[in-house]
Amino acid sequence: MSGFIPVNEPLLNGNEKAYLCECIDTGWISSEGPFVKRFEQEMAAYVGRKYGIAVSNGTAALEAAVQALDLEKGAEVILPAFTIISCAQAVTKAGLVPIVVDCEPDTWNMDVSRIEEKITDKTRAIMVVHIYGLPTEMDAVLALAKKHHLKVIEDAAEMHGQTYHGKQCGSFGDISIFSFYPNKHITCGEGGMILTDDEYLAERCRGARNLFFSARRYVHEEIGSNFRMTNMQAAVGVAQLEKMEEHIRRKREIGRRYNALFAELQDVMLPIPETSYAENIYWVYGMVIGESYDFNALEAMERLGGMGIGTRSFFYPIHRQPVYLKQGMFGGVSCPNAERISERGFYIPSGLGITDEQIETVAQAVKQLFRQA
Ligand SMILES: *Cc1c(COP(=O)(O)O)cnc(C)c1O
Repeated sequence: MSGFIPVNEPLLNGNEKAYLCECIDTGWISSEGPFVKRFEQEMAAYVGRKYGIAVSNGTAALEAAVQALDLEKGAEVILPAFTIISCAQAVTKAGLVPIVVDCEPDTWNMDVSRIEEKITDKTRAIMVVHIYGLPTEMDAVLALAKKHHLKVIEDAAEMHGQTYHGKQCGSFGDISIFSFYPNKHITCGEGGMILTDDEYLAERCRGARNLFFSARRYVHEEIGSNFRMTNMQAAVGVAQLEKMEEHIRRKREIGRRYNALFAELQDVMLPIPETSYAENIYWVYGMVIGESYDFNALEAMERLGGMGIGTRSFFYPIHRQPVYLKQGMFGGVSCPNAERISERGFYIPSGLGITDEQIETVAQAVKQLFRQA
């Protein structure tokens, strides 16, 4: 469709092509190539962590991270109800039990004041997921983890370059992860990274991503996966990392532009520009339709699609996922905030490839949508 504005377009205007050509010219295309180590080291240094373990995607990073912790089967892991299935399935695939906490109505992050009531003698970890642009209230999470001797898994897949009280997201978990999917602040096409300061956990993650090969090749003590990142993915990642500050600046600019253009909207919740602990990084520009409108997010998205604007719906609550309900999980669980924003929330084009002119076009269409109503 000509003139259609997609919900995301990546920006690949740095050394990506040169580094990719280097892979081809040298023949280093597998996970053994030099860009992989370089990307691991540079990403770890950027976030301020000792070890980086590159993997094939963010979902794989979560799975390897949870597996590395080696929690006993049946142990409980607390995580937000409002997040992507990758978080919950890393828990359930490891034979662990996900316990969900509702989100805050305005930051859309896990409501940390509701965590402690979920802690039982089976709880072993809290999985923190920073949602859409603002970090989770880490001080509260870290205090609870310390008090109850829990591990912290930090999903910073949407937070490259974001800080909490000035400290990098991805530096808070016993084990933290990033994704480099094309809609993230930096991309490899597909890619993920696990970060930790713990040498033992780092070694376990390296095992988990590479079939737990042991000293004697083809002899295995544990079941792992092939989650290896290729040298070609890492080559793009290294080039993207060089642009990190520029990308972050642009993402914030896109967010602020939309904020200004939408100042007149009534009863539509927009991203909070800042909190006491962070300035929004606008990974995506989300909007939640107020109750005074008689349409939900799916209807709004369909109308915007008709106007040539790509959109995407908010996450669907974990405790409502059919795959888990079919297994008899989450019976009687209710998280009203997560349920409401997943029904009434959607996000609009805000990828790094968007132009200022396109931002104007999107904003006009969105304003028209709410004016008609
Ligand atoms: C994107 C994302 C993931 C998954 O990453 P993939 O690379 O797409 O597998 C996990 N968690 C969150 C919060 C994400 O936004």
